[in-house]
Amino acid sequence: MTPTDAAVVDSLEAEASALDGSDPLRRYRDAFVGSETSLVYFDGNSLGRPPRASLDRLSAFVRDEWGGRLIRGWDESWMRLPFTIGDAIGRSAIGAAPGQTVIGDSTTVLLYKLIRAAFDAQHSADPGRVEIVVDRDNFPTDRYLVDGIARERGGRVRWVDVDLAAGVTAEALAEAVGPSTAVVVLSHVAYRSGYLANAASLTRIAHDAGALILWDLCHSAGSVPVEADAWGFDLAVGCTYKYLNGGPGSPAFAYVAHRHQAALAQPVQGWMGTADVFAMGPDYRPADGMRRFLSGTPPIVGMLAMQDTLEMIQDAGIDAIRAKSVALTEFALRVCDALLAPLGVSVASPRDAASRGGHVTLSHPEMRAVTARLWADDVIPDYRDPAGLRIGLSPLSTSFAETYRGLLAVADAVRADDAGR
Ligand SMILES: *Cc1c(COP(=O)(O)O)cnc(C)c1O
Repeated sequence: MTPTDAAVVDSLEAEASALDGSDPLRRYRDAFVGSETSLVYFDGNSLGRPPRASLDRLSAFVRDEWGGRLIRGWDESWMRLPFTIGDAIGRSAIGAAPGQTVIGDSTTVLLYKLIRAAFDAQHSADPGRVEIVVDRDNFPTDRYLVDGIARERGGRVRWVDVDLAAGVTAEALAEAVGPSTAVVVLSHVAYRSGYLANAASLTRIAHDAGALILWDLCHSAGSVPVEADAWGFDLAVGCTYKYLNGGPGSPAFAYVAHRHQAALAQPVQGWMGTADVFAMGPDYRPADGMRRFLSGTPPIVGMLAMQDTLEMIQDAGIDAIRAKSVALTEFALRVCDALLAPLGVSVASPRDAASRGGHVTLSHPEMRAVTARLWADDVIPDYRDPAGLRIGLSPLSTSFAETYRGLLAVADAVRADDAGR
């Protein structure tokens, strides 16, 4: 390290500590299990850290509710839980009025149910609407589902090409939609680059073409403000184990705007989606409202922990969370420019904070090996092809000092990798 490097390192370290000192959300970090250790966690956008409150919530549930109430628990509270937690997500994280959000199955299964329901409704109203529009860099499950649904329903996929360091622009979407479009499927924050789409304007473009739009909110719920109602969303699905810290495999949420609920028929017709669940009648009769999007017994244990983070989000406010998220990614980019760019690392995420979600992707040919080195040293980002190191900065649980230490470790790992070759 040259003397200039040492000075830069000192000033960045001082900056991290000043930013932590003035961070209005600083107290939330202590609310997470493991935050007291020196481990650096850069993957809260993939699996959020557990809230400490969830330790008590889960054990109290096993002891008092499952253990004490037994089957009575369904009548007393569990049957309502998918709806009450759904409404809490609507209120604190996605700008949805009550009665439009429910906790259901996995993200993949909810995406399947809603995309297929939307395709069928559009196609039966206008047989010329046969296309599902999706971008080539959407998350794999979204692309695979769209491909399968198009084949299953006699439709076709209209692919939108995108820059891997960015995402779907208004121009690209406007070119792809038209009188043949049934439904558009986009991610609000791109899983690879962190590109933050202008959801209000893209929704308008889809609607102007007569299409419905489904927003995948996996990398935005709990990290960037979403206004599902105000921006005119038709449908949305999002993960709860990322920024909502629901735990591995916690069930996803679905949003369906009030105006569409009665007209959409989802394909997995189970007893939990019927108007009178315990009537156990001869035929499937879908419930009114969001219940019709459920299929089987709700995964109650999996939806316990997310409530602790929803309380924190409600308390902190999503705008303050976004402000910290922007400050974290801006700081990470400054550290990267100072310490990593000289080592040949480039930024594969938008530079403009207004077009960037909660993570940044750093690119270098050896990032796969660098990731393995970092994991062995308790610095945990993740790797995504091509050659991308994803730095996920979860605003409630990540500190600036942690961000700084982690990026310093990335620089060391890139150097060690260079030296080893
Ligand atoms: C994480 C993620 C998923 C995950 O789907 P699962 O069914 O929970 O495995 C889907 N879409 C996007 C955009 C994601 O980021």
